[in-house]
Amino acid sequence: MMPEWMPQDLELFDTHAHLGDDGCPDEAAFYRRAEEAGVPWFLLCGSDFESSRRAAGFASHFDRVFFAAGLHPLDVVKHPCEAEAFEAFADAPRFAAVGEIGLDYYYERDTRETQIKVFRTFLELALRLDRPAIIHTRDVDGGSLAYDDAYGLLSEFAHAGGQFVLHSFAGSLADLDRFSALGAFFGCGGMVTFKKADNIRALALRYPEDRLLLETDSPYLAPVPFRGQENHPGLLPWTAHSLAALRGWSMKKTVTLTTSNAKRFFRIPPEDEKLK
Ligand SMILES: [Zn+2]
Repeated sequence: MMPEWMPQDLELFDTHAHLGDDGCPDEAAFYRRAEEAGVPWFLLCGSDFESSRRAAGFASHFDRVFFAAGLHPLDVVKHPCEAEAFEAFADAPRFAAVGEIGLDYYYERDTRETQIKVFRTFLELALRLDRPAIIHTRDVDGGSLAYDDAYGLLSEFAHAGGQFVLHSFAGSLADLDRFSALGAFFGCGGMVTFKKADNIRALALRYPEDRLLLETDSPYLAPVPFRGQENHPGLLPWTAHSLAALRGWSMKKTVTLTTSNAKRFFRIPPEDEKLK
């Protein structure tokens, strides 16, 4: 369903979505729902080898669906897997990024050292395969250790020519500024619509215009007025609408800008070059 304030002729790009744990029983219906809402472009993000493989399978069936392959920090112990194994995706159609990878000290403090070691090997993989990286970073409340550690690794990565997005970013304004200086892109998701998320709105007001991406992180974090429901790329317009109001932009500007940023970040050629 397309909300009436979504410009009919424009297309949104959901830069971060997940398939559920059981994959997607009806890919055509999943895709149609997104397309009918004005979100014909999306990237499916892996969190371990198996989910990356499922994302790759889905992307192989739709011209405007891309995928990322990687090992989520909360999976480094649960589903250990060497970065080298992910080179298997190098030639898969629409393999657009390495991710999601990163550090999560909120849920897993004890595996910190393993997380850092694995994160480093996946950043090296991104450089080797010449793909941007999708980064998950989460700290304990009020902490900055995960951001400090991520900053160290990402600054090396950036200096070696790597590009990255901090997805669902929830750090401090100071973090925003230091990562921004490394050329980071920022993923803005459903949290921007949450009543209590003033910190997220303060960040969203400050993201550099040319490095701002929209994402759902579906099936999690559904935007208002769908909170508590299963999220889907087709709900991205509500996040876009919220961001537009916050920044004082028209929907047209919001959609055009974030979609063109996403295509540049994932290095998707203009459509007239025929995606295949
Ligand atoms: Zn995610």
